[in-house]
Amino acid sequence: MTGAAGTAPLVTIDRVHAARDIAADTGADLLVLTPGSDLRYLTGYDAHAMERLTALAVPRRGEPFLVVPRLEAPMVDASPAGALGLEVLAWDETDDPFALLAATATARIGAAPTRVAVGNRTWAEHALGVQRALPGSALELAAPVVDRLRMVKSAAEIEELAAAGAAIDRVHARMAEFLTVGRTEAEVGAMIAAAIIEEGHVGVDFTIVGSGPNGASPHHELSDRVVAAGDVVVIDIGGETATGYRSDCTRTYVVGGSASAEVAEWYGVLHAAQQAATAAVRPGVPAEQIDAAARRVIADAGWGEHFIHRTGHGIGLDSHEAPYIVEGNGIPLVPGMAFSIEPGIYLAGRCGARIEDIVVCTEDGVRPLNVGPRELVELPG
Ligand code: ZN
Ligand code: ZN
Repeated sequence: MTGAAGTAPLVTIDRVHAARDIAADTGADLLVLTPGSDLRYLTGYDAHAMERLTALAVPRRGEPFLVVPRLEAPMVDASPAGALGLEVLAWDETDDPFALLAATATARIGAAPTRVAVGNRTWAEHALGVQRALPGSALELAAPVVDRLRMVKSAAEIEELAAAGAAIDRVHARMAEFLTVGRTEAEVGAMIAAAIIEEGHVGVDFTIVGSGPNGASPHHELSDRVVAAGDVVVIDIGGETATGYRSDCTRTYVVGGSASAEVAEWYGVLHAAQQAATAAVRPGVPAEQIDAAARRVIADAGWGEHFIHRTGHGIGLDSHEAPYIVEGNGIPLVPGMAFSIEPGIYLAGRCGARIEDIVVCTEDGVRPLNVGPRELVELPG
């Protein structure tokens, strides 16, 4: 992966070596990561998941290696992983890739690994294949190792997230083109999806158009409901950029009318909650306190029972990753952590509202990566 500026590489071999050190720290003997964001983060190889085994193996001693189907070895070379100097073990169609992985890891360590950490999203058939090839081994999740690295973004990664944030802000800025009275949510969603690509993403992760009562369902996506004059509409959208980094931003609109006094009142509470949570971000503050900062404002105003989800989630190569901004997560924020702040208020059967920005914890506070207006935006319809 090369950065947006095309200069410094996003991925260096240091990441794999850091993962080996952390794995040793946790007592894991072997880390096995298959196609997905963990593999892309550590090696730059954006492999597609399928039944044939592709895996990065990181033994606690010796050099890490990649096990790949021989027909895909040229793709590793062509990817940023090709420049890392990682050893690539190619296997032929009739070989047993699990036996190859197990034997190589055992040779590097000098003993058969017993604690094997596999990626949280590794397919079960691959995880169990590794375990079968290492009789007596026990599987555990690799998250404690990889999340420690992925949670804290480098300056280059933050610039990738900032570019993704600016791209999704441009889509929201064009919302009057898409969100009009008489269109269905599905029609609005299709136009937004096209704009997500036009404005600088290579893929659409999700388009939530929650009009009227559908806005009270936080993860509602699209339906055939026709947008009506005076509807409050929750628009939560995100995509993937060429380097794999994600955007995720919610704004709430009123279309073809203006908000009732009651909606304006509780929307003001929501806005204040989002600001309070953002202002609370600085190094050393536990993640759960950011959640508490938003929740307190909403509860104090009497709307607490209508804020039915956590305040946020980390973001990077996945749209949802550590750290989670939720009660019970006492992890202290450190500079470089990037996450959403997205309180909402949901009135079942009527409507809902959410305000979501991606923010980064900096050395002395916070940097929002979404900067579009957070007020209830009135569109002519
Ligand atoms: Zn989000
Ligand atoms: Zn969102």
